[in-house]
Amino acid sequence: MIVSKFGGTSVGSSTNINKVIEIIANKTDKCVVIVSAFGGITNLLIKASESAVKGGKDYLKILEVIQEKHLNIVEDLFDKANQVTCKVFILKHINKLRDTLNGVALLNDLSEKSSAKIVSTGEILSSFIISEALMQNGLEVDLMDSSQVIKTDSNYGAASVNYKETFLNIQKQVLSNDLDIVIAPGFIATNKKGEITTLGRGGSDYTAAIFANALDADKLEIWTDVSGMYTANPNLVDQAKPIDQISYQEAMELSHFGAKVIYPPTIQPVLDKKIPILIKNTLRPEDKGTLIIDKIDSNDATVKGISHIGNIALLTLEGNGMIGVPGISKQLFEALYQKNINVKFITQASSEHSICLAIDIVDAEKAKVAVDNQFELEIMQHKVNPLVVEMDLAIIALVGDNMKSHQGISGKMFSCLGNNNVNIRAIAQGSTEKNISAVIANKDVKKALNTLHADFFENQIKEINLFITGVGNVGGKLLEQIKKQQKYILEHLHINIRVIAISNSKKMLFNSNGIDLENWTTQIENSKEKASFDDFLSQVKKLNLRNSVFVDNTANEKLTSYYQDYLKESIAVIACNKIACSAEYEAYKNLKFLSRQYSAPFLFETNVGAGLPIIDTLQNLINSGDEVTQIQAVLSGSLNFIFNNFDAEHSFYEVVQQAGIEGYTEPDPRIDLSGVDVMRKILILLRESGKVMELEDIENKSFLPKTSEEASTVKEFMETLKEEKEHFEDLRLNAEKANSRLKYVAEYKDGKAQVGLQHIPMDHPFYNLDGKDNIVLFYTNRYCDQPLIIKGAGAGADVTASGIFGDIIRTANK
Ligand code: ADP
Ligand code: ASP
Ligand code: MG
Repeated sequence: MIVSKFGGTSVGSSTNINKVIEIIANKTDKCVVIVSAFGGITNLLIKASESAVKGGKDYLKILEVIQEKHLNIVEDLFDKANQVTCKVFILKHINKLRDTLNGVALLNDLSEKSSAKIVSTGEILSSFIISEALMQNGLEVDLMDSSQVIKTDSNYGAASVNYKETFLNIQKQVLSNDLDIVIAPGFIATNKKGEITTLGRGGSDYTAAIFANALDADKLEIWTDVSGMYTANPNLVDQAKPIDQISYQEAMELSHFGAKVIYPPTIQPVLDKKIPILIKNTLRPEDKGTLIIDKIDSNDATVKGISHIGNIALLTLEGNGMIGVPGISKQLFEALYQKNINVKFITQASSEHSICLAIDIVDAEKAKVAVDNQFELEIMQHKVNPLVVEMDLAIIALVGDNMKSHQGISGKMFSCLGNNNVNIRAIAQGSTEKNISAVIANKDVKKALNTLHADFFENQIKEINLFITGVGNVGGKLLEQIKKQQKYILEHLHINIRVIAISNSKKMLFNSNGIDLENWTTQIENSKEKASFDDFLSQVKKLNLRNSVFVDNTANEKLTSYYQDYLKESIAVIACNKIACSAEYEAYKNLKFLSRQYSAPFLFETNVGAGLPIIDTLQNLINSGDEVTQIQAVLSGSLNFIFNNFDAEHSFYEVVQQAGIEGYTEPDPRIDLSGVDVMRKILILLRESGKVMELEDIENKSFLPKTSEEASTVKEFMETLKEEKEHFEDLRLNAEKANSRLKYVAEYKDGKAQVGLQHIPMDHPFYNLDGKDNIVLFYTNRYCDQPLIIKGAGAGADVTASGIFGDIIRTANK
């Protein structure tokens, strides 16, 4: 004997009902089929009752929707001639329902008893229609009214079952029945007086479990719209997978903590007789599904699933007068019990100074009044504080029978949440160690589920979510490189890089599923969203994705003031922009501090030498205890390009112009030619070496004539380069005379730093520095005779983009 339950999701449309018929027709054993109301109908019935009691007329419209939905399904399922019986049945019950709802509206009163009667209509209609449909398909079926056999107390909304009487009734009715298929509505029952009660929302699963126990079934099948119990709610976690096998205890814990696929009370009746439960997908019956059985292999996964309950309120009762006083918790629970408030989570500090409880948010107000009344005297005497209620929270839980024999699971759970800036309000661990649960903000649920899921189930794949500002020259190349490498990185480094947002100076574009990099330029052109640093930040915060990374490819000073806001959200910051690291020392130090405090990488490799691994190498030296004593470097790819191409045939003006066209200079070439850019770079290197320095501490020996220095616009500046041709020719000829080449050098020696143009003789490592190359010589305690040299292309969009890309990968490996 098999008991098969088909949920609302399985019977929400005629297409699905036909699948149900096919599944039942293929059964070889005798089977009892329990059905829920058609998908969405119970919710509509509740909505109609709520509308009626408020005195509005909306309930009549809702009633029409309910009627329409049933009639449509009947018209789809049956031949014309066979529709009448069902249609008459539907209209009869809808009329009854209308009468009851009119009564509710008239009296302005909706008792639990009337509510139960109203919602029971859903299952009464569905079971009748499906039994008729089975018969139309040639199957012999007996429709049984489960409300008459399942006997309960009078807690109409979620009644307690009298098992003894119920089991006898079921056995009497089903076992005496010769037909191979018995169909019955789920969810509904009756009390001693014969009045309709229900088994609570989702209660059809429970009905089926009660039948399975009474009939000693070989198996209980729960047919739904997903292929089993998943490692996490598949609606919230794309990577969630069905679990092959799970124990009763694990299934109970997961469903208690919100895995809606099975209603928590369902497990007990089958557990008593160790009847296996199989969760199957009606729409994909070929999928294996999840088998719930008694004992699972001890080598099985430690964490089996993650679930959550949203919309929770946390109650905290605190007070110095609570310590060592017996009976406080009793009074607290008593007060809640009296108001029928279900407690979902409890923790108590070992000092007994406070007790923390989580309840459904809808009960929060009721709980506050009840508890404060209960402790009125103690509150007056200042022994206990008024109850503190925090709203908009959620419980998130890890579940697994084998967790008890493994260390470090809670540590991993909390550090994973902490690294993603998910604040934990309270923690509880069941003494059987089958679950660890934590209370977090509702808004963090999706992120928390996904990061925990990634850490416990997808070890191999890490998702990185990028938010990129500046998609011009460098940013554009970065997107190109990401597009090209995405697949490789996923396959070889197990990192899934997704670009969630891009912005240029005019527009921004967000796509929480990842922007298709095939045609991002058209997408951003067509975007309706105007660029704004504030809006960008608030959208990034709102999306609240795990492993978020903000990338700044601009040279915008204002944008650097937002870095701290990102870091405080535990969002990594990657800056191509040098301004933040070369601003006041305190500001730079603060960003480094925030990066540590919020475990959010702050990386800026491309600030010096574009893609060359200069900062990373320096950090490795310093972290391993080395000390920088001297630095000599050519750090401006643009100035190097300019002085390498400046010769008898090409005037200084022409070369600077060419460098601009090829993208080697900053948009404002004065930043390069004045030496400010190089000053910033050496300053960053010195700060990363542990020196406390400001930009003013660096001596700048300018090679520009006064007129160029004083030019107030780029255009004026370029003009002076033309006018001052002789000044620049002198510089060149002097170097030539000295058998040297002109190089713009940054130096640090004896605690002093300077930048300026120098004559470099033939035997110096800088002499043959080509094109736009950079070179750095680090003299340290370890590299004292021969410096550590890093040399290579130090400017250009491609190499800069690859440096940023390197930083992105580094955030993934943090
Ligand atoms: P039915 O109408 O068949 O009773 P439910 O809506 O009650 O279906 O339960 C199935 C739904 O449970 C799925 O569609 C899914 O959205 C949700 N769900 C939540 N957590 C889980 C989980 N861990 N595994 C599977 N489904 C889950
Ligand atoms: N129809 C009821 C509900 O929606 C019972 C069930 O579907 O399990 O809660
Ligand atoms: Mg359900």
